[in-house]
Amino acid sequence: MDREELSAWLETLGEPAFRGDQIFKGLHRHRFFAWNHFTNLPHSLRKQLESTVELRWPEITETIDSEDGSTKHAFRLSDGKQVEGVYMPYRNRTTLCLSSQMGCAMGCTFCATGQMGIVRNLSAGEIVGQVVAMLNAHGHSGVTPVNLVFMGMGEPLHNLENVMKAFRMLTDKEGLGLSPRRITVSTSGLVSGIERLATYAQRPRLALSLNATTDEYRSRIMPVNRVWNLAALADVLTRFPLEKKERVTLEYVLLSGVTDSLEDGRRLARFARAFPSKINLIPFNPHEGSGFEPPSEERISQLCQILSKAGLTVSVRRSRGQDVAGACGQLVRGKHNPGDPGQGSR
Ligand code: SAH
Ligand code: SF4
Repeated sequence: MDREELSAWLETLGEPAFRGDQIFKGLHRHRFFAWNHFTNLPHSLRKQLESTVELRWPEITETIDSEDGSTKHAFRLSDGKQVEGVYMPYRNRTTLCLSSQMGCAMGCTFCATGQMGIVRNLSAGEIVGQVVAMLNAHGHSGVTPVNLVFMGMGEPLHNLENVMKAFRMLTDKEGLGLSPRRITVSTSGLVSGIERLATYAQRPRLALSLNATTDEYRSRIMPVNRVWNLAALADVLTRFPLEKKERVTLEYVLLSGVTDSLEDGRRLARFARAFPSKINLIPFNPHEGSGFEPPSEERISQLCQILSKAGLTVSVRRSRGQDVAGACGQLVRGKHNPGDPGQGSR
């Protein structure tokens, strides 16, 4: 429940609405995980809540530290299903990579999550829960800024309602109060979802996984391109109502011999110059049976040169957590045995 829903629910119990604010604050800002932590609530209400409402954040069932300082977590949800998230501490910020769905329906051929299909959407509470559980597990004080990226399992625009509810809860000043500018949803290119996202007054930043520069190749690796092709994407992005200084991130996975030619670089530059953008090149993270290879270092730097010469901002994502299969597109849980972390990409 968001803060308003909590207040309305407290009123149905005959309590004043501000109790909802108190509970929201306790859960999100103080990150309490038991009713007896809520010492500001009347004793009788606390007792009533204790006996009727189970307080539970997603449980971390597995934690794997990577050599680069990031940590992959597996979360068990209330129905026993598991999803994954990654905690990445940097000097001046901490970035959390979140899942929005268990699995994904989009079927991108280079992505381990895509190969498992969709199991279900995550609720807003399960999305917020990943954040709270990771901050708690790492003793994060909330002092250094927190960035959130919806780049774990799932297509966030396929679960937009719950993602937006989680966004409202996470940015609520009575709770964690995260900055909307530090939250990014990454989409494979659902034009209808991008259009819906554009209608929100307060919304997260947008990243598009472009990943190819011709319809022929994009349709081959991303089935969604058969519904919304490159022209449809260019059209929706040029219409997308950006704030001052806001830019759309274009993610571009480099698959050796497939999407990493110098021609690709020039076409990518042309695509990106049509609207305010920045480019994030992601060398492919190999996983078993994918049939794709990462690009050479030489090719990465050639492409960077082409793009920066075209006046574009470009960065290369050295995927964190690769040695623990926590990097982009490596997040996968066994579909038939959600408790078995051994299945999948490792
Ligand atoms: N479904 C959303 C967000 C999750 S995927 C989307 O596709 O945008 C996050 C990013 O990881 C996407 O840019 C995707 O293209 C990239 N990705 C997926 N599999 C990858 C892999 N094996 N190696 C590198 N990047 C990958
Ligand atoms: Fe889904 Fe994104 Fe993976 Fe494509 S890349 S299958 S949209 S998670």
